[in-house]
Amino acid sequence: MSIVCKNLTKYYGKQAALSDVSLNICDNCITALVGPNGAGKSTLIKLITGLIHPTCGYVTIDGYDVHTRHRQALQHLGAIVEWPSFYADLTARRNLEILSGGHGQAYEKKLSEVTDFLKIGNILDRKAGVLSTGQKQRLGIALALLPDSRCIILDEPTNGLDPSGIVEIRELISDYNRQFGVTVLISSHLLSEVEMICDNIIMIVDGKLKACGNLHELLGRKHSLRIVTGNMEETMEFLRRAFEQHAPWIASLPYFENGAINMEMPPGVEPYQVSDELFKARQHLQHFSCEQQKLEDFFLNNAGGKI
Ligand code: ADP
Ligand code: MG
Repeated sequence: MSIVCKNLTKYYGKQAALSDVSLNICDNCITALVGPNGAGKSTLIKLITGLIHPTCGYVTIDGYDVHTRHRQALQHLGAIVEWPSFYADLTARRNLEILSGGHGQAYEKKLSEVTDFLKIGNILDRKAGVLSTGQKQRLGIALALLPDSRCIILDEPTNGLDPSGIVEIRELISDYNRQFGVTVLISSHLLSEVEMICDNIIMIVDGKLKACGNLHELLGRKHSLRIVTGNMEETMEFLRRAFEQHAPWIASLPYFENGAINMEMPPGVEPYQVSDELFKARQHLQHFSCEQQKLEDFFLNNAGGKI
């Protein structure tokens, strides 16, 4: 399922909530849409799901324009945007029926598949008004999955959940993607959460696209090493010289921090290549560890420290 956004811009009055965003959402993957509150995540999702019209630009799904070919574009898409809302006095089951517009044997079969998967069979006959936040979020996800969706879009589905609820929802989304190959777009302001499950990242700040691409390619640009040896001064001198002489395995001037020498490796270099060099230079290693840049660090470096 291919989702393409081209030059998307949305003004609310005079305020630009989204400016000139162009991107593709990768099929069968989990893509995380991240950015601080007010960045424009829900606005982008509402544009993709046809709930609002763009000021400029367009969205196509499988080649159909979301606005001019609404029905065809959205036929395999399920979404929850901002908070899922339900009729408080009706049962969860009735809510799903009414809101999904589903009926008949195929619907009942899909309903039992989805409710089994989300483990919400026991709440189906309870009124939506008495459900907990976590149960309502699951019901919202059920609603997104019911139309036999090939793509689901979940806007901050872990909002209002406690840490264990967040882990459960995260695992459900990841399992569903793996089992059924469904394309997932999930927005969140919790970077450490989505980092664990997503393949791709779309990062927006103040309505502008800051980064878009494969998580590991974006983060893999930097690998930091922490090194402790028997003679730190000598090792430091060796690494400094290697950097100045443009050795291909070192990408930054080394520096001392927290009792270790820290340095960065260029993309594509493996940690063992650096430890081999240290070994050849007779530097006696006492500690050697490699840390990949976290999404949080990437965000701080690329979005001016706001989230
Ligand atoms: P996010 O989902 O990342 O928190 P939103 O897309 O909800 O961000 O909002 C982006 C910006 O647009 C914010 O500054 C918000 O105040 C503004 N905004 C969102 N919806 C409306 C609206 N209906 N009318 C006016 N401004 C809006
Ligand atoms: Mg939002």
